[in-house]
Amino acid sequence: MSQDNANTTQDTIFGRIIRGEIPVERIHDDDVCMAFRDIAPVAPVHLLVIPKTAVQSLGHASTAHEVMLGHLLRVAGELGRQYCPGGFRVVANSGVDAGQSVDHLHLHVLGGRHMSWPPG
Ligand code: 5GP
Repeated sequence: MSQDNANTTQDTIFGRIIRGEIPVERIHDDDVCMAFRDIAPVAPVHLLVIPKTAVQSLGHASTAHEVMLGHLLRVAGELGRQYCPGGFRVVANSGVDAGQSVDHLHLHVLGGRHMSWPPG
């Protein structure tokens, strides 16, 4: 996979971030995914992990995406361990009812405070 794949999919703000058109501090960057801080954090630590191949949502993922999804989760876990030693939550909002606002699959890594359950 390469960054060029971002040009072949439905474009979103995350596609522009992947292509470097919108600058962000890349706290993780590899061939498959990148991570950066959410612009509107809802927790002291709020990171986004996004694949460089755009899939609209987790609900649109298929068997073809299994390796990428596993990679995303591993990176999210490593970032959570690194940035949130007290624990963290990984969230993938998928679709309207879940409040997904950017149609490019992404994982939220949230931590730095206690979180209640169930989520709102
Ligand atoms: P969703 O609501 O789709 O699950 O999550 C999308 C997230 O992307 C939101 O938490 C929102 O704050 C974040 N976001 C939207 N646009 C930008 C941006 O331009 N830069 C960054 N860093 N985050 C963004």
